[in-house]
Amino acid sequence: MMDSFTFPGLTTRVIFGAGTMARAEEEVRRLGHDKALVLSTPHQKADAQKLAQSLGGLAAGVFAGAVMHTPVEVTEKAVDAFRASGATAVVSLGGGSTTGLGKAIAVRTGADQVVIPTTYAGSEMTDILGETAAGEKTTRRSPDIRPETVIYDVDLTLSLPVGLTVTSAMNAIAHAMEAFYAPDRNPVIVLMCRDAMAAFRDGIPRLIADPQDRTARTQALYAAWCCSTALGYVSMALHHKLAHVFGGSFDTPHAETHAILLPYTTAFNEAAVPDLLRPMAEAFGGGSAGGGLWDFARSVGSPLSLKEIGIEETDLDRAAAIAVKNAYANPRPIDLGSIRELLQAAFEGRRPGG
Ligand code: NAD
Repeated sequence: MMDSFTFPGLTTRVIFGAGTMARAEEEVRRLGHDKALVLSTPHQKADAQKLAQSLGGLAAGVFAGAVMHTPVEVTEKAVDAFRASGATAVVSLGGGSTTGLGKAIAVRTGADQVVIPTTYAGSEMTDILGETAAGEKTTRRSPDIRPETVIYDVDLTLSLPVGLTVTSAMNAIAHAMEAFYAPDRNPVIVLMCRDAMAAFRDGIPRLIADPQDRTARTQALYAAWCCSTALGYVSMALHHKLAHVFGGSFDTPHAETHAILLPYTTAFNEAAVPDLLRPMAEAFGGGSAGGGLWDFARSVGSPLSLKEIGIEETDLDRAAAIAVKNAYANPRPIDLGSIRELLQAAFEGRRPGG
């Protein structure tokens, strides 16, 4: 029960189901557009071309150059392609990388966005854009960045490889974990996050057993929507900061980095706000939120240590120093020594918590 809160409202229109990609044309037209550029990564180009075909005269072409961390050079090429095509909207088909490119085009051109997410990373509901220029990643928030419409199509997640299914789900769980203690949380977000934890906990083991299990895919995508909404409407803290440090300064893979850090950042903050993280401890068992998440991660084959993704022990001092450089809100005060300890445990993959 929260004594006081502000609920900002949810502004993005959401279509959820199986086969819902077929509604893309209707949704673009609903926003008042008659030309849209379809975006994807090179890996998902064939799917983007199929989508463009199904859009008929509405499709202004396909730009299949999206890559991780939204490099500005790629965005500039995409903006040229967008302007040359005569499009006034984008349809982003893919994971966070493709959604990021759509946001980067939108913020520069005023384009409306219809996003069709195919991972659980959760960029689609947010007003956050991270961009890389000259090797440095900067992040900004603005209402112009938030997509107008999101179409969740369970069918598109059937092809998500098991490894990415697991790490992407852990990436999503991290949004919920930090939402539980966010100073600007509200009861709607907390309820969504509680529901998402149960859906991931039950759905992910089923997807490892059978990646084509439609009921489990539906559970996982529903949970991803909840977690993306949490990321998009309340503040994040230490966990997202550390993931940003490793992704930005050590070029570690996005989903794996979140997955590895999550039990450790959870345990760190659980020491300060055990009551707020109780829904996580209840969802994953194991006696504590951090320990329970580590047990869950291990049971679903998620990577557990920073050394598995190429971090050297000698990198940890620099990572800790970057992480404490700028002050930010976190439920437990942050200092160099305690962050260095957290990173040591994450480097070794030791089970945290009691
Ligand atoms: P991604 O979008 O890079 O996708 C990883 C790979 O998997 C790509 O090659 C992609 O084409 C492929 N793929 C995606 N869906 C697939 C499917 N269903 N079947 C088969 N292959 C598929 O990775 P991601 O983890 O979704 O996104 C990471 C990026 O998103 C990072 O740059 C991160 O910073 C950003 N992100 C931003 C926000 C935000 O709010 N701004 C939130 C989350 C993530």
